[in-house]
Amino acid sequence: MEITYNGITIPFFDPEECKNLDNVKLGDNGLPEQVLVSLSGGCDSASALYLCLTHFPDIEWLPYTCRDLNAPGDADSAIMFIDKMQKEFPHANLQDIQVFEFDDKDPKYFADAQYCIDHYERYKDMTVVGMVKVLLIDRITTSLMQKYDRPLRFDGMSKNPSEQEMIDGGFLDVSEPRRTHDETWPTMVRQIYQPFINVDKKFIADIYFQHPFMLKEIYPHTKSCTGTAWWTNNFTRVCGKCFWCYERNWAFGDELYPIKNLPLIDKPPKGYKGSLKTLPIPKVVKDGKIINL
Ligand SMILES: [Zn+2]
Repeated sequence: MEITYNGITIPFFDPEECKNLDNVKLGDNGLPEQVLVSLSGGCDSASALYLCLTHFPDIEWLPYTCRDLNAPGDADSAIMFIDKMQKEFPHANLQDIQVFEFDDKDPKYFADAQYCIDHYERYKDMTVVGMVKVLLIDRITTSLMQKYDRPLRFDGMSKNPSEQEMIDGGFLDVSEPRRTHDETWPTMVRQIYQPFINVDKKFIADIYFQHPFMLKEIYPHTKSCTGTAWWTNNFTRVCGKCFWCYERNWAFGDELYPIKNLPLIDKPPKGYKGSLKTLPIPKVVKDGKIINL
């Protein structure tokens, strides 16, 4: 079938496209029988799953989330979404969520991550911690796939805004270049399906604007900020300075994602690496005074 949001029409679980998949078990209708859905707690994956349950309730949906031990709240959002969606779609074949933990600031993974950054063109601009996160989630997903009979691996990753839009918004310097592209990328490669890889966050935002359940029940709990405990005052606010904050504000607007007049936070003490294990008490500077929110 096809779906249209933000004036853009894209295929969504098209049986013709599914013929491009490799080693995925397809049913008589040409669609995968089991789909592993990666949920981050963010708005992309939640909206992708909502459309899946709306249009294809009979497929067996297998949600999972990877809990970042340095930002544990994101997984809580993912868990909440499945609870809400199981109630919203009682007839759908949506299984309970599986939760796995990882620590992307554990130095024992840094050497592997640095190797990938040094040897793979598409990872060359990543930070070590960002690369560890990609590696660990990939390992978790690969081992999870072994538990099932040739499932499809599915996520809601969208592409970056265009370079010009990021320049105009003042956030090109914090963007991940690997997600910026003008050419059309294949949405189905081997066992992986990424239907939103060629559309940006304004497409995602329109899914929320078009479906009241998404805007009212899911949106307020979606996470996108990757700021550390320090810069988010122990996850009680967004940082307003990471790529994900800028992108979300660009797509949803100031009212739904305000970042422009946040109280300033003083620099973290020397040696602070963003790990919760070394978390000092966050301080906020407001009107020139240091306060705790
Ligand atoms: Zn942020």
